[in-house]
Amino acid sequence: MSYKVTLIPGDGIGPEVALAARRCVDATGVSIEWEEVIAGAAALKQFGDLLPKQVLDSVRRNKVALKGPIVTPIGGGFRSVNVAIRQELDLYACVRPAKIYPGVRSSFKNIDLVIVRENTEDLYAGIEFEAGSLSAKNVIAEIQKNNPKKIRPDSAISIKPISSFASERIVEFAFEYALKNGRKKVTAVHKANIMKYTDGLFLKTAREVAARYSERIAFEDTIVDNMSMQLVQRPQNYDVLVLPNLYGDIISDLCAGLVGGLGVAPGANIGDGLAVFEAVHGSAPKYAGLNKVNPTAMILSGVLMLRYLGEESAAIRLEEAVKVVLAEGKSVTYDLKADRNDPSAVGTSQMADAIIKKLKDK
Ligand code: NAD
Repeated sequence: MSYKVTLIPGDGIGPEVALAARRCVDATGVSIEWEEVIAGAAALKQFGDLLPKQVLDSVRRNKVALKGPIVTPIGGGFRSVNVAIRQELDLYACVRPAKIYPGVRSSFKNIDLVIVRENTEDLYAGIEFEAGSLSAKNVIAEIQKNNPKKIRPDSAISIKPISSFASERIVEFAFEYALKNGRKKVTAVHKANIMKYTDGLFLKTAREVAARYSERIAFEDTIVDNMSMQLVQRPQNYDVLVLPNLYGDIISDLCAGLVGGLGVAPGANIGDGLAVFEAVHGSAPKYAGLNKVNPTAMILSGVLMLRYLGEESAAIRLEEAVKVVLAEGKSVTYDLKADRNDPSAVGTSQMADAIIKKLKDK
């Protein structure tokens, strides 16, 4: 079987880690024709558009993509290309496994949990009103017509839509994921004590969905601040976490930290029949072009992609090769060494070479 997959190299360190992942995926022997398309800074330069139409068309056509990180400048009315891709393609489930591999330094042992983050709504819906703008003033005036609570006139406003539809679909996804992957428990994370309507709806919907699975998968819910503490103290108690968009983003970075850092945290954005695989980390601009950063997160995103394509044995072989290289701790990047200045650290492409060698030696 041969596959056609869209490759979006991305910005900053994106092209280096995407190339490393592509080479490792190819080394499994699975036949993939890569269709490379550019988004982000390079696309802005070449086509005058951060997210040219051909990028979304390519993913729609091929159904599967491997994507490097893309820069989002802070502020300035600039929407994230990463968020736009997820929203345009309705990739509603962001799946981020957080697992400790032997050899990766962490204060914890035996963490193996999966974050399922809602990807399309919440404060990431991109509905914002700039402070002092006419639209912000109109929104404030409208809200205050029926609500005695005072909003300062110089406020900026962000809207947090949480729907019953999107909540049901993400929680159902989490339970189906748990069933398919032999997981035992789903924890819904929220702040329903404060945001009674938005997070309250998410929680109510989660409880309704959980009732349909109660014979097979355990369910609990936790408030996001308490969850942050519990994860730092007792991460082993958790299995699958399901969260609205913003909490999911923050808790995924926290979990990446628990299992050894952003360099080893992979991810997938999945919709109905479409999927884009990308690391949790961003474009780390200060390391761009240095052949220095850790390619593991992107390579493990490639493992998730192989599994999604149904190439389970290739996925297992590639994950095993990554595991061996991590456990040996020799041909690894600076961030995986005890001393970050260890001169024996290898570069991005050399770590990929070591993983490919392990794959071939098997
Ligand atoms: P970042 O993840 O790019 O980097 C933060 C730090 O984490 C880096 O300075 C580095 O020390 C470490 N790090 C990240 N990836 C690493 C790797 N592979 N190996 C070793 N160390 C690694 O986060 P940031 O600096 O907040 O964001 C930079 C840009 O990336 C921003 O424009 C942001 O919007 C964007 N971003 C994109 C995505 C995405 O494309 N999905 C995700 C997050 C951030």
